[in-house]
Amino acid sequence: MPRPLIVGNWKMNKTASEAVAFIRDLYERVSASPHADVVIAPPFTALESARNALGPSSWISLGAQDVHWETYGAFTGEVSAPMLRELDCRYVIVGHSERRTFFGERDENIQKKVLASLRHGLSPILCVGESLAEREAGRTESAVTAQLSGGLAGLTTQDLAAVAIAYEPIWAIGTGRNATPDDAGGMAEKIRSTVADRISSEAASGVRILYGGSVNAANIKDFMAKSEIDGALVGGASLDPDNFASIVRYWM
Ligand code: PEP
Repeated sequence: MPRPLIVGNWKMNKTASEAVAFIRDLYERVSASPHADVVIAPPFTALESARNALGPSSWISLGAQDVHWETYGAFTGEVSAPMLRELDCRYVIVGHSERRTFFGERDENIQKKVLASLRHGLSPILCVGESLAEREAGRTESAVTAQLSGGLAGLTTQDLAAVAIAYEPIWAIGTGRNATPDDAGGMAEKIRSTVADRISSEAASGVRILYGGSVNAANIKDFMAKSEIDGALVGGASLDPDNFASIVRYWM
C-alpha cells in the first residue's frame, strides 16, 4: 500500500502572514507526525514565509499550485520548477480543473509541466476529473482516461514513482456535493488500470491516487475506507487549521 498523501490546496487564499498564523495554529493542534505525507500548497507569494514557519524537518511538506514547464525565460507572470525547489517545495499541483477551466490549460501543456516537475525533483500531483456535462452524458471514464493519457504521455515506470494522481470530479469541487466513496473508489481503480495499460503494472501499483471534491473532517474516513484511494486533495476544508487538523488526525 502506498503511504497516504493529504494535500491542502489553498488556491488564491491567505497572505504570507496569514500562512504563518495558520502553520502556528496547526502545529498547536497536531503535535506528532501523522502516518501520512501531509502537504500544504499556499499561493506562490506565501511559500517563503510558510517554509520559514514550518522549520527544518517538518512533518508538513510544501507544495505549489502550478509551475511553468520552462526553466527560465520570457514568460511573464510564470514561476519555474527551480524557483520552487529553492523554496523547498517538494510537490506541485498540475492541471487543476480551475486552471483548465479559467486559464485554458490543455493536456499537452500539463504533460510538459509534469515532466518539468520531475526533471527538477518536484513530485507532481496530476489532477483529472469529469465535468457535470460529461458525467451526465455517460462520458466520465473516457474524459478521465483522455486526461490521463495526455498528462502522463511519455512517462516511465520510474517517473511514476514520484507522481500522484488526484481524481477530482469538477462538479464536486467547492460545491459541498462530494462523489460517493463507492464512485470515487471505482474511478481510482479505473485510473490505476489505465496507468497499468499505458505505462506498467509496477507503475500502477506504486502510484498514489487521491480523491478531491468537498472532502471534510466528517467524510474523510469514508473515502479512506476505500482501499483504492491513497489520500485526499482538500480545498475549502484546508483553509481553517481546526478543520485541516481534524482531517490530518485521521492518520494519527
Ligand atoms: C480542490 O481545490 O482541489 C478541491 C477539491 O476543493 P474542495 O475541497 O473545496 O472541493
